Amino acid sequence: MKTKNFDRIKARLNGVSRRDFMKYCTVMASSMGLSSGVAPQIAEALTQKKRPPVIWLHGQECTGCTETLLRPSHPTLENLILDIISLDYHETLLVGAGHQAEEALQSSMKANAGKFVLVIEGAIPLKDDGIYCMIGGKTFMSMVEEAADKAAAIIAIGSCAAWGGIPSASPNPTGAVGAPQFLKGKTVVTIPGCPPNPYNFLSTVVHFLTFGKLPALDAKGRPKFAYGRLIHENCERRPHFDAGRFALQFGDEGHRQGYCLYKLGCKGPETHANCPDILFNDVGGNTWPVGTGHPCFGCTEEGIGFNKPLHALAEIKNPTPSAALSPIDTGKKGKGMSGGSAALVGGLAGAAVGAGAVMAGKVGKTDDSCCSSSEGE
Ligand code: SF4
Repeated sequence: MKTKNFDRIKARLNGVSRRDFMKYCTVMASSMGLSSGVAPQIAEALTQKKRPPVIWLHGQECTGCTETLLRPSHPTLENLILDIISLDYHETLLVGAGHQAEEALQSSMKANAGKFVLVIEGAIPLKDDGIYCMIGGKTFMSMVEEAADKAAAIIAIGSCAAWGGIPSASPNPTGAVGAPQFLKGKTVVTIPGCPPNPYNFLSTVVHFLTFGKLPALDAKGRPKFAYGRLIHENCERRPHFDAGRFALQFGDEGHRQGYCLYKLGCKGPETHANCPDILFNDVGGNTWPVGTGHPCFGCTEEGIGFNKPLHALAEIKNPTPSAALSPIDTGKKGKGMSGGSAALVGGLAGAAVGAGAVMAGKVGKTDDSCCSSSEGE
């Protein structure tokens, strides 16, 4: 990275040194599953003079996705985002209002046709010709359609934009859908979450800037580097799950001991996301829902978050824990079947998937006989 390039953005990075910036680029590379060798390439892309224009539209949503980007406890993230992109239109952050704002949108779309990144935040209501979300006299669906036709890349940020989220929950009175369902035939990158993790958005943008293409996506449009694994695979409470130690009620002994939250309705076993790996708010360990004692409610997974009842038990899809998790020895042994033993039984029977179902059946019992711990055993 040329020094003059770093000097250009240095003032806005609140005293971050060149060395720390390079470390940041290395971390960014590894978070995308890339070799640390591409860090200089990322640094060049982040410090280039020409910033890619971004048009950010808000539909049916709470603005939580924008908030999560702008309010991390560590100030560098928002500075970096606002420095590497040219945010031409964003209804929450725009200084102008009314006709001035409309003009900013139209002139950016005209000047940057085929070059800008379109970010969609919020669901798109289709019922009654889209009248349930109007901006400047236009329906949100017509705005999305117009901008998407001219965009170089489309990112749906948050669960509402990714697949409908809260507005689409039953009975879905406004006919809300996500951007991929509305923009059929177009590639839409989805960054679901309520709110989504800002680093997943940033890494996606950085990937696009650095390599001129989008990262590898799964069948739901989610970047595989962030949503390729189940929460259950990397959860720090997983050793308790495998040992059959469960919290049965909020505040009970198991809950206070940090046992697995599966029986309180944790949807980690059927939800893909990297929450346990990258956490939230840049303040250290345990800053994610399960880390603070609340079951995952599956906000990144279509059909789970806002659809499945909070206390319904998750379907266990993958009994294999991360090799990085070391067992937790509490001196107590639970009565539920362990993930390791379930996988072993499955392997012996030649059906690991079947083992998952067996395990789900065992731990799915909510009676006290399968309690959080069994002292004295
Ligand atoms: Fe963690 Fe939830 Fe899996 Fe338990 S069920 S290990 S709390 S993700």
